[in-house]
Amino acid sequence: MKQWIDKLRKERTLRQEEFRQLLTGCDAETLRYINRQAREVSLLHFGNKIYIRGLIEVSNCCRNNCYYCGIRKGNPAIERYRLTGESILDCCKQGYDLGFRTFVLQGGEDPALTDDRIEKTVSAIRRNYPDCAITLSLGEKPRDVYERFFRAGANRYLLRHETHNEQHYQRLHPAEMSGKRRLQCLQDLKDIGYQTGTGIMVGSPGQTVEHIIEDILFIERLRPEMIGIGPFLPHYDTPFAEYPGGTVEQTLLLLSIFRLMHPSALIPATTALATLTPDGRERGILAGANVVMPNLSPREERKKYELYNDKASLGAESAEGLAVLQKQLNAIGYEISTERGDFNTIEL
Ligand code: SAM
Repeated sequence: MKQWIDKLRKERTLRQEEFRQLLTGCDAETLRYINRQAREVSLLHFGNKIYIRGLIEVSNCCRNNCYYCGIRKGNPAIERYRLTGESILDCCKQGYDLGFRTFVLQGGEDPALTDDRIEKTVSAIRRNYPDCAITLSLGEKPRDVYERFFRAGANRYLLRHETHNEQHYQRLHPAEMSGKRRLQCLQDLKDIGYQTGTGIMVGSPGQTVEHIIEDILFIERLRPEMIGIGPFLPHYDTPFAEYPGGTVEQTLLLLSIFRLMHPSALIPATTALATLTPDGRERGILAGANVVMPNLSPREERKKYELYNDKASLGAESAEGLAVLQKQLNAIGYEISTERGDFNTIEL
């Protein structure tokens, strides 16, 4: 197995059969080996600095009905909220004072959060914080809308493709949603000039090794600047409530594969990984991740943005818990960077 890992580090890709062997035959020792290789690559590119992004969950209202997601339209059991532009700016102010230089506005596809409103909010953040990066993660929009947000000052966009395989996409989403459209959105975002992030949930219902290989090869072609890999975790009020979650090991293996294939990509140790296991954030970093996204949403709304059971939003997952995060990172030899942390094209 080690020969495939060494080859992956050197050549940044493998043949499909080699990926298959790595994905199906990875034991504990192999995982330690690939995590170490990926960590070395990450250290070469970023040193021991971990970029922080302030995550502002702007709305938990959504017109979509993704089977895995706790804020899906069909879940009557959650209390819905939507932040005002003013409240979003307050979050940015708090975040700026804490040292954040990237704000991530994420939310459901909320029809009441109109394109005009988003555009105005982005412009206001851009005016108030000219030195900060603005990342949006607001789902699928027509190309001209992405262009408006970009002109208003947004720099980055996160849109996981979730799965590249159309049949698997249909297994995870109702018929009115289309994987093809999501892929088109990603292409539009790239063409417009956004630093673009995509990714998958590891262990989502129906996911096979073949699907994962398809995802790896798609991400290889797209060359996104950011790659978000987290475990699927069930939410008790969704159709997937009874499915098992993805595993820590499979998530760490994929994190390392992506780090070896995309040395300068921005790869977060996700909240889902930190929710799955108490040391998930640290293990993600030791497997090649170089970004964390503490929660900067108003405290009273955090519990309502419950995408999966017991989603972490306090302690080191929270913006006000930066000291805890710093301590945890120090304990594994890393530290927080308060730089903007844009994608850097210099390849080593
Ligand atoms: N609406 C936007 C979109 O579709 O990209 C952004 C919000 S969406 C809730 C953000 C991400 O949460 C999704 O891309 C999905 O991968 C993740 N997510 C949703 N439900 C999840 C679950 N049960 N387990 C793990 N991740 C989940």
